[in-house]
Amino acid sequence: MATVAFIGLGNMGGPMAVNLIKAGMTVTVFDLVPAAVDALTSQGALSAKTACGAAASADFVITMLPAGKHVHSLYIGDADNKGLLDVVAEGAVLIDCSTIDAGTAQTVGAHAKAKGIEFMDAPVSGGTAGAAAGTLTFICGGSDNAYQKAQTVLTVMGANIFHAGATGAGQIAKICNNMLLSVLMVGTSESLQLGIDNGLDPKVLSDIMKVSSGGNWTLEKYNPCPDVMDNVPSSNDYQGGFMVDLMVKDLGLSQQASLASNSSTPMGALARSLYVNHARQGNGRRDFSSIFEQFAQADKK
Ligand code: NAD
Repeated sequence: MATVAFIGLGNMGGPMAVNLIKAGMTVTVFDLVPAAVDALTSQGALSAKTACGAAASADFVITMLPAGKHVHSLYIGDADNKGLLDVVAEGAVLIDCSTIDAGTAQTVGAHAKAKGIEFMDAPVSGGTAGAAAGTLTFICGGSDNAYQKAQTVLTVMGANIFHAGATGAGQIAKICNNMLLSVLMVGTSESLQLGIDNGLDPKVLSDIMKVSSGGNWTLEKYNPCPDVMDNVPSSNDYQGGFMVDLMVKDLGLSQQASLASNSSTPMGALARSLYVNHARQGNGRRDFSSIFEQFAQADKK
């Protein structure tokens, strides 16, 4: 059975690592937050004092970190600290599942290649519910060899696994998806509020739109209006889930990519402005579906 190092045990990484443990793999974990490590060791994980300690003898190293700067420093290290690429065992496959800029993924990939190490970017879609259920979509960028080898762990954590192309391609596909998701979330929120303001029950309106031409993932799986669906962040004061700050990061990445390729992405640009504004009002750590509150009447929030 494969040995896995899992680094970054937040909203996503924690439940992903649990699924590897449940599949019988030996999983050694590390996170900067001790409570996140404790939550995993109580479910059967081993722990290490450092990320490099966790990774040194693993067949697979999986990282699930907030942003590109964390991935760059963890993999490449600096003058004072070794990086993962300095310590991993021969033949190990390194898989970064964070959503980051394609440029950082390509930089890490180039450093890995120079050392003869297989590295793949494999950002995910499916949210915390998909992470817990083992039904994530993985969007991979890397060599055929790395992609084939990674199936051992990715099939345990996900239901759909795509090979988007070379290193960095997974990240490009992921930010295209998240830009679309943000636009759908904003549009769904304003539509639901328009219905409420005109006397409709948001549950009834959601049922109608879900099977009509406006149907989309946010209505089916992640309704932003409180108390329309159970077990979604909107029915839990927008706690857990996918933080506004992370959506702001992803929308910044999509706008950077848009500038670099001279693409026209007006809806993405508007969604970024709305989410930046929402974050600046103190909502950065709440779930991204809380954008609904920007449209709700103040006395009904
Ligand atoms: P999170 O903030 O809940 O978790 C990140 C974890 O990484 C934290 O526990 C943090 O302590 C840890 N960490 C940071 N730097 C570290 C380091 N150097 N060494 C070890 N641990 C470190 O974030 P999340 O919601 O789990 O998201 C992680 C990534 O997945 C992000 O890139 C995000 O954009 C992406 N993502 C999130 C969701 C979602 O629904 N939450 C969905 C798809 C993709």
